[in-house]
Amino acid sequence: MKLIHKVSLFVAVASTLLASSCNKKNKVIWKTDDKVKVVATTTMVTDLVKQIGGDKVEVYGLMDEGVDPHSYEGKPTDTIATKTADLVVYSGLHLEHKLADMLEKMDKSVAATTEMDKKSLITPEEELSQYADPHVWGDPQLWAKAVKPVVEALSKTDATNADYYKKRGDVYLVELNRLYVWSKKRLTEIPDEHRVLVTSHDAFMYFSRAYGLEVKAIDGLAPDDKAGPKKVKDLIQFIKDRKLKMIFSEHAVNAKSVKSIAQDAGVAISEKELFSDATGISGEMETVNGETYDLGTYIGMQKHNVNAIVGGLK
Ligand SMILES: [Zn+2]
Repeated sequence: MKLIHKVSLFVAVASTLLASSCNKKNKVIWKTDDKVKVVATTTMVTDLVKQIGGDKVEVYGLMDEGVDPHSYEGKPTDTIATKTADLVVYSGLHLEHKLADMLEKMDKSVAATTEMDKKSLITPEEELSQYADPHVWGDPQLWAKAVKPVVEALSKTDATNADYYKKRGDVYLVELNRLYVWSKKRLTEIPDEHRVLVTSHDAFMYFSRAYGLEVKAIDGLAPDDKAGPKKVKDLIQFIKDRKLKMIFSEHAVNAKSVKSIAQDAGVAISEKELFSDATGISGEMETVNGETYDLGTYIGMQKHNVNAIVGGLK
């Protein structure tokens, strides 16, 4: 009897301690009590949830700007955040490589790419992967397909505000379409013979398809999928043959291989790095041609890329 009593007392004390330490940690992660708590993975997904959720949601983004989602492993606070969140939104298509299994198995998770038609996805030829290219945000019209699953998931989690999420989702769809139309028009400023984009890793295939630009990347679909010597040699030859003026490095990716290729091919590197797998810092503003945008948003990230590419290639 005594032993049982001691054991149950221990359990009671331990669970009280655990609960209070969890509560303290919760407070560190979640600043509000009355909002829907959403964990989002990449900065693009974080922005998407903020655009749709507005002031009804508190979003905890797992990955900061400049973080490579392909190799992200998570930090201890991420576990507490995902456990205590009402909803978890991730990009999907195995972009969050190391977290993919965990994210897919959760009851309260939704992939932003879940409504994207298989036919609209690009399947890489040379990759051994059975997964489609995950860099779908390169095409705003395709990224727009991520709005519906987020609206639905928020409405299911917080039914009282379903109309609010629907309205904000509809407004955001108009903005995404406006971004697509603007980008397409702006990119026509690049003459046909210069419409070649050389970047660090293969993150611009959807961008290429959306706007009719040829894209060549040094590394594969993930930045750690390094190019072999033959690929590097062929790319240098390609840059020389096509007499390219400029190639681009990416914000979250080491620029070492771009620098060495630029040197060997005798081509310049754009001073403006492209945002490939993460947005810029939230609240960091950029003004080009009199238009100001926030680099920490998806729309700002895309505008920065388009302006940088047009500026470098035209
Ligand atoms: Zn990538």
